[in-house]
This record gives sequence, C-alpha cells and structure tokens, in this order.
Amino acid sequence: MYSRPKLKNCPGCGKLFTDTGLGLCVECYRKREEIEKQVLDYVREHPKVTVSQIVEDTGVDIRIIKDMLRRGMFMNIKGSVSYPCSRCGKLITNGAYCAECSAILHEEIKSVSDKMIAARNARMKKALSGATRQPPKIHWTTNPNNL
Ligand SMILES: [Zn+2]
Ligand SMILES: [Zn+2]
Repeated sequence: MYSRPKLKNCPGCGKLFTDTGLGLCVECYRKREEIEKQVLDYVREHPKVTVSQIVEDTGVDIRIIKDMLRRGMFMNIKGSVSYPCSRCGKLITNGAYCAECSAILHEEIKSVSDKMIAARNARMKKALSGATRQPPKIHWTTNPNNL
C-alpha cells in the first residue's frame, strides 16, 4: 500500500520531515532500528524477561518497548517478554489483559450492552403504551348529520 508522503514534525526530534510511512525522520528511524535491535538482542539473551527489566537493563524508553510489543516484534521469540496486565498487573505475554481480566471485561461490556438494550426496550414500551392511551380517533365515513 502506498501512502502519499506528507510533511510533518518528527515525533522523535521535532524536525520537519517528509513522512513516507515510517512515522519518523530517517535519522530517528535509524536510531529506533538500532534501539529495537538492541532490545531484541537483549531479549534473546534473557528469556522470560519482563518489560520493566528490559527498561532497567538497557535504558530504553518503555514506550518504544510497548510499541514493539504492540507490533508483535517479539512474536518469533514468543513468551520471552512478559509485561503486566493493564488491569490487575499479572505478568502476561500477549494482548493488553490477562485471560481472567479479558473474561471479566468481556462480561462487563456484555452487561452494559444488555442494560442499554433493556433501557431502549423500556423506552419503546413506554412510547407504545403512551400511544395506545390516546383517545381513538373517530373517522366519519359519512356526514354525521345525514345519519
Ligand atoms: Zn527525527
Ligand atoms: Zn489481569
């Protein structure tokens, strides 16, 4: 897929650059590649490492590591990097939440949407019963004076 290059400020150094899809200027992209390589090397040498350990030992910005996780860069060394679940803090190796939290969140979303549906049904019921409460309209088919 080709996206038209556009001029913007590099999120790494703030310099104006032409974005060709990298999201960073060439210099920062190279630097980022170096850092990512460093992190990957570190992870290969230290299986089952946690994100906070990587940050501590390599001094790499946690945002870069999270971005790498998001892009699945540790997939080929699966299970090597663990990071805390966004909800309970238990160490996980993929997704944003551990299995339990995913299940709980799924339930929460379901109950919220159930409630919304129930509320909508109640509103509709009310509107319908309101309509039937109105006095029936009489339509004279013939002139009542002629009856
Ligand atoms: Zn830059
Ligand atoms: Zn969790």
